[in-house]
Amino acid sequence: MIVDKVVTTGPALKVPSHLSFAQYAIDKLKDICNDKKDEVAVINGDTGHKITYKQILQETVNIANGLKKLGVKKGDVIALCSENRDEFFPIALAVLCCGATITTLNVLYTKDEMTHVLNISRPKIIFSSEIGLKKNIESIKSVSSIEKIIQINGKLVASGIIEYKNVGVHINPVEFEPEDVQGWTDVAYILYSSGTTGLPKGVMLTHLNVLYSAVSFESEEDPFNTVMLTIVPWYHAYGLMSSINYILIKKIMVYLNGFNPLKYLSTIQEYKVTALAAVPPIVVFLAKAPIVEKYDLSSVTVVWCGAAPLSSETIDLTLKRLRNCKGIFQAYGMTETSLAATKDIDDDNIKRKPGAGGYPLQGVKVKVVDIDTGKKLGPNENGEICIKGPIIMKGYAGNEEATKAMFDAEGYMKTGDVGYYDQDGCFFIVDRLKELIKYKGHQVAPAAVESVVLGHPGVAECGVVGAPDEAVGELTTAFVVKRPGATVTEKELLEFANARLSAVSRLHGGVIFVDDIPKNPSGKIVRRALKQRLAEKSKSK
Ligand code: AMP
Repeated sequence: MIVDKVVTTGPALKVPSHLSFAQYAIDKLKDICNDKKDEVAVINGDTGHKITYKQILQETVNIANGLKKLGVKKGDVIALCSENRDEFFPIALAVLCCGATITTLNVLYTKDEMTHVLNISRPKIIFSSEIGLKKNIESIKSVSSIEKIIQINGKLVASGIIEYKNVGVHINPVEFEPEDVQGWTDVAYILYSSGTTGLPKGVMLTHLNVLYSAVSFESEEDPFNTVMLTIVPWYHAYGLMSSINYILIKKIMVYLNGFNPLKYLSTIQEYKVTALAAVPPIVVFLAKAPIVEKYDLSSVTVVWCGAAPLSSETIDLTLKRLRNCKGIFQAYGMTETSLAATKDIDDDNIKRKPGAGGYPLQGVKVKVVDIDTGKKLGPNENGEICIKGPIIMKGYAGNEEATKAMFDAEGYMKTGDVGYYDQDGCFFIVDRLKELIKYKGHQVAPAAVESVVLGHPGVAECGVVGAPDEAVGELTTAFVVKRPGATVTEKELLEFANARLSAVSRLHGGVIFVDDIPKNPSGKIVRRALKQRLAEKSKSK
C-alpha cells in the first residue's frame, strides 16, 4: 500500500499476457481437472444437485462449440436471463469463449425494465430459464435484435424456442481453444447500473477488467477445500464475478436462490460451510435473529460482505455468535469498478478496521476530492471517492455523454460516494452523493420509480429517495405532490406503483404527500433536501 499525500495506491498485480478472461478461466478449469480429477465444484443448496469441475469445463466447451455453429462470433452480444442455476456459468463462460459479450438480466425485471435493458445491449441470442421466459416473453419478442431464444429448463414456453439441451455440440476440452480477444478493449460483460443519475445503463466491462478482478481473488486461494455459500443473485456484478472467481480458486460453491432463514442456516450446517458471501441484511440477520442460536454454525471461519455499508456494532454482534469466525471482511465497489475497488485484507501486518470499506485493490488508485472544488483531500477529510485503474469500466454502452460525465480531468472515475481514508490508507464510506438507492444490496434507480408514480393521473410531481433502514439498507420512499383536485390516497398510489415495479424497486418506505418538491435552478430534484425531510420526520417520531 502506498499512501502519498493525496492518492492511495494498491500493490501491483500480475495478469496473464493474453489478457483474455475466457482463456484464463479455461486454463484454470483444465488445471483443476488435471489436479482434482472429478471433484464437486458447485452445489445447488435448494435441490442438493452437485456439479463437478469436469462437468463445468465439458459443458462450457460444448456450449461454446454449439454457439459457434449457430453463427455466434466476436462482437456479438448474448443475453442470459436466469435465476441462479447450474447452467449459468457454463453459458456465461461459453459466450466469452466465442469472443462474444454476455449480458445478464434479472428474471424479476418488469416488462418495462426488461425492454429498457434489452434495447441497450441489443443481444442476438437470449438464453432464459423457464421462470424468466414465462415472465418476459413479450418484452423479449419486442426486441428486434433477438434472432434466437434458447430455453434452459422446463416445458417450452412458446413455439420457435430452441431447447438448451440441443445447443451443445460435444468437443474434447483438450482440443478446444477460446477465440482470441483484445483484452483492453473487447467487452466481456454488459451489466446494468444506474450509475450516479437517471435510468439503468449498460456497464461495459472488458476482458482485462474481469481478469484483474479474478486474479485479485488468487490471494485467497486455499490449499484446503473451503465451502462458500452464496445467495447473491448472479445477474448482478457481485454475484456473477465473485462466484466465477471463487470457482476458479477451487472453492466449493453452494448456492441458494433467495433468502429463506431456515434454509440458509440449515445449508450452512449441512454442508459445513466455511465462508459466506453476504450482503448487510444477511449479516444483520446473523447478528440478531434468535433462530440463529439453534443451528451449528461453527464451521464458518469468514464472512465476506459488500454492496452496502455495514456497521461495526453489527460486526461485533455477529462475531459473538459465529464463534470460529476470524472476521467479517468488507469490500467496497460498484458495477462500474468490476466488483471491489477496496477490500479488507486478510494479512496480519495490516490493521483491519471494523466498518471500513478496506484498502485499494492491486493496481487501483483512489483519491478523495472536495465535492465543490474537486481539490484532492488529505486523510480523514470527507469528499467524493474517485478511482482509477484496470478495474474501471470501458464506459456505458451507446451512451458517450453519460460515460464522459463519470470521469474527471485526471481520468479518475467519480463514484458518487462520499468517504475518507485514514492515515493507513484505509477507506471508509459515509454517504452517497448520487441518486442510487440500495435495497437488500440491489440497485433501485429513483428516476425509474418516479416515472412509474408519475403515470398515476392524480400525481403532479414526484421525488423518490431512500429512507435508511438497518435490516434492508434503504426503503424506497416517494414524495408526491397531488394534481389540483386529485383525491388519490397513499393506499391507492402504493397499489398502482407496486403493481408496475419489480419486487426490489417497490415503495417499501411508502408515500409522503407534500406541497412541493425542492428543485435546483435547472429543475433537478434536490434529493438531499428530501432526505433531510425524512431524517426530520424520523427524529420527530
Ligand atoms: P452496485 O453497482 O450495484 O454494486 O452498487 C454500487 C454502490 O453500492 C456503491 O457506489 C456504493 O454506493 C454502494 N456500496 C457498495 N459497497 C459498499 C460498501 N462496502 N459500503 C458502502 N456502500 C457500498
